Amino acid sequence: MTDLHDLYQEMILDHNKRPRNCRRMAAPSCSADGHNPLCGDRIKVYVDLEGDVVKDVSFEGSGCAISTASASLMTESVKGKTVSEAKALFGKFHRMITGQREATDQNGGPELGKLEVFSGVGRFPTRVKCATLAWHTIKAALEDQDKPVTTE
Ligand code: ZN
Repeated sequence: MTDLHDLYQEMILDHNKRPRNCRRMAAPSCSADGHNPLCGDRIKVYVDLEGDVVKDVSFEGSGCAISTASASLMTESVKGKTVSEAKALFGKFHRMITGQREATDQNGGPELGKLEVFSGVGRFPTRVKCATLAWHTIKAALEDQDKPVTTE
């Protein structure tokens, strides 16, 4: 277990030091701002949709190591997925991190893969918000996309 813990730690540190997809997007399909006042993490997530598929996703912002690494891994995880797959993945990630995994999570839906590195974060309740900020933010971006356009 110690080796696994070290591996997780290393991956979080690596993604914090060299975050993937950390850049502004010129013309995103949708975007949203996220803020975690408990820790001071701020993030903006950009999504480029092609039909129902997340063709590209990026973020920028400043925050603690957990929030930055989580944003980096989030972008890697949702790229190429459909909007509903991305939302399902967030649901699964959220249940993992809050220790509420469901039986169906073991063998159904999208794979958590590297996101498992955050499985230990649930032991630190204040850190859960850091680890889920990027996910709440992309969810907000994707849901805004679904809002009916008003001309009023
Ligand atoms: Zn934080």
